[in-house]
Amino acid sequence: MNAGAYGGEMKQVVKSVKCIDFDGNIREFSNEDMEFTYRHTKITDSEYIVIEAELELEYGDKDEIMSVIKDLNEKRTSKQPLNLPSAGSTFKRPVSGYASKLIEDAGLKGLRYKGAMVSDKHSGFIVNCDNACCNDVLDLMRIVISTVYDKFGIRLEPEIKILGTEL
Ligand SMILES: Cc1cc2nc3c(=O)[nH]c(=O)nc-3n(C[C@H](O)[C@H](O)[C@H](O)COP(=O)(O)OP(=O)(O)OC[C@H]3O[C@@H](n4cnc5c(N)ncnc54)[C@H](O)[C@@H]3O)c2cc1C
Repeated sequence: MNAGAYGGEMKQVVKSVKCIDFDGNIREFSNEDMEFTYRHTKITDSEYIVIEAELELEYGDKDEIMSVIKDLNEKRTSKQPLNLPSAGSTFKRPVSGYASKLIEDAGLKGLRYKGAMVSDKHSGFIVNCDNACCNDVLDLMRIVISTVYDKFGIRLEPEIKILGTEL
């Protein structure tokens, strides 16, 4: 899915990816073949299973690297609601602006629906604060999508994958 954060993404380090299909054929894709875009790769829409990936990293100063890691880890723990279960960032970043900013500006930060809640720490996350079931989370996502659309005319799209039902 070309995971990424804080200006970096897998696209920058993946050299090649080895996959197997359901007939047992093995294929190897180069970085270019992978068609990396925002939270998407060639694999996303295919039935390939990744069995190996070669990453190419750059040499750098160990202390500098450790300090960047520490800094980013601190950013993540201070800004994300990692104390409660979630599926990560709920909505994709829209073409203009940030999903979390739109949700906050729509007055939805901290909104609770049954056991699900728009995190009061980072409104881009829907957290499970009290035994939420799938439908609680989906209903809250629908409320967020329609409220943000009514206020700003921007339709948020889920970043998380929903299985077995439609949003
Ligand atoms: C608290 C939290 C914070 C997060 N922060 C970020 C972030 O900053 N940036 C970001 O980009 N994402 C973030 N995420 C999302 C995270 O990167 C994705 O949830 C990640 O892809 C999950 O991988 P997984 O292997 O755990 O999940 P899985 O559900 O196992 O896999 C995710 C998808 O990949 C497919 N898949 C898994 N293994 C293979 C394989 N071998 N071959 C082919 N397809 C496969 C699955 O079918 C599924 O569609 C966050 C998630 C959480 C919970």
